[in-house]
Amino acid sequence: MDLEFLQTVDPQILVGVAVAVVAIGIGAIFLFSSKKSRGCLDPENFRDFKLVKRTQLSHNVAKFTFALPSPTSVLGLPIGQHISCRGTDSQGEEVLKPYTPTTLDSDLGHFELVIKMYPQGRMSHHFREMRVGESLAVKGPKGRFRYQPGQVRAFGMLAGGSGITPMFQVARAILENPKDQTKVHLIYANVTHDDILLKEELEVLASRYPDSFKIYYVLNQPPEVWNGGVGFVSKEMIQTHLPAPAAGIQILRCGPPPMNKAMAAHLEAIGYTPEMQFQF
Ligand SMILES: Cc1cc2nc3c(=O)[nH]c(=O)nc-3n(C[C@H](O)[C@H](O)[C@H](O)COP(=O)(O)OP(=O)(O)OC[C@H]3O[C@@H](n4cnc5c(N)ncnc54)[C@H](O)[C@@H]3O)c2cc1C
Repeated sequence: MDLEFLQTVDPQILVGVAVAVVAIGIGAIFLFSSKKSRGCLDPENFRDFKLVKRTQLSHNVAKFTFALPSPTSVLGLPIGQHISCRGTDSQGEEVLKPYTPTTLDSDLGHFELVIKMYPQGRMSHHFREMRVGESLAVKGPKGRFRYQPGQVRAFGMLAGGSGITPMFQVARAILENPKDQTKVHLIYANVTHDDILLKEELEVLASRYPDSFKIYYVLNQPPEVWNGGVGFVSKEMIQTHLPAPAAGIQILRCGPPPMNKAMAAHLEAIGYTPEMQFQF
């Protein structure tokens, strides 16, 4: 800028302009940060989010990417909580089901759901039919579990099939926070190797954080070469791969109902108190 020109301007005007510029800057920062922290969910009312990308991951699993209102928006889902999604089943009836995004609030502008679609599943039908450009009605946050860093010394996680998503969310939040020293031990059960959801993402976390994150896979029908567990998750597998019952230990469970029931019995027999367990 021409300094001679500045010398000709009334100093009061210059001060006024400077104050206005600073005020606009502070206002913009305030607007941005309040927008960022507010989140896009409403616990009382469903809000629509547009499907912008659909990636088929296997014959019955797809990743759905939904846009948030702006590229800097966050979903606003506390770690450990989930969302309720509304859809229509094959009979045209309304259905509501819980889902945990695989993205965190550090992922701006969008959120992702990894959905396993069952042939007879009611909400599965809705997701199978859903096309890019359509909207999903979502309400939340929901859930009794809320993670705070340092809440426990170590988590043991027992996941079956799509029950991995709440575990992935909690594990990712812990591991990607350099100030969080919590250890995570996961047993993840599936029918076949192809059924393992988020395998690549889990492997990346395990290789990046080898001291904090251990995974033990269990398959009902393992491939010929396999160094994980075989059959259903047993008491012995839990004793070998999860932290023993003690203060500062919590076991999280999420899987199909028969697995949850079997795991609750194993955990009780090993000596985990009800306070040491949580089922999503
Ligand atoms: C906290 C939480 C988070 C979840 N997050 C996800 C997620 O991110 N992605 C996801 O895909 N799912 C997730 N689920 C499961 C999801 O809520 C539904 O239960 C699932 O999508 C099946 O719903 P559906 O209406 O299609 O099937 P339904 O109509 O309820 O079931 C139809 C049939 O499908 C089979 N089936 C249903 N669920 C299972 C299962 N878990 N294991 C084995 N067989 C089953 C059964 O044979 C059942 O009879 C989560 C569940 C909880 C509690």
